[in-house]
Amino acid sequence: MSDEKGISINVLKARRKAAIKNLTSAKPFVEGSLTKIRVTCGNPNCRCAKGEKHISHILTKKVRGKSKSVYVPVDMVEEVDKWVLEHRRIKKELKEISALSEQIIKQHVSTKQAVNKNLKRLNQSRQT
Ligand SMILES: [Zn+2]
Repeated sequence: MSDEKGISINVLKARRKAAIKNLTSAKPFVEGSLTKIRVTCGNPNCRCAKGEKHISHILTKKVRGKSKSVYVPVDMVEEVDKWVLEHRRIKKELKEISALSEQIIKQHVSTKQAVNKNLKRLNQSRQT
């Protein structure tokens, strides 16, 4: 989101309201990314023992710089994939709302400064 100057507070607030509305329609979500890994099951007679490994899925995330993962059962993979996407969407929405709020703060400050300038000018013209 670019730092747009000169947009009125009302426009910014309307954008923020819309973004917040997008948040309220949140579906189930989970943090992390889904990764495919190749594993052996431990059975010496299985094809995986000969190098044809099984495909497994894990959900990975970073916690204080360390990678943490949970095993995702195959019948949940499709669903968890949707949860991951939803988490990304919400994260984006949160950033957007935060950025808009920041802009509203900045805009408020510059509006106040402009008002003060005009007041000063007004007072000066009164004195002359
Ligand atoms: Zn196996």
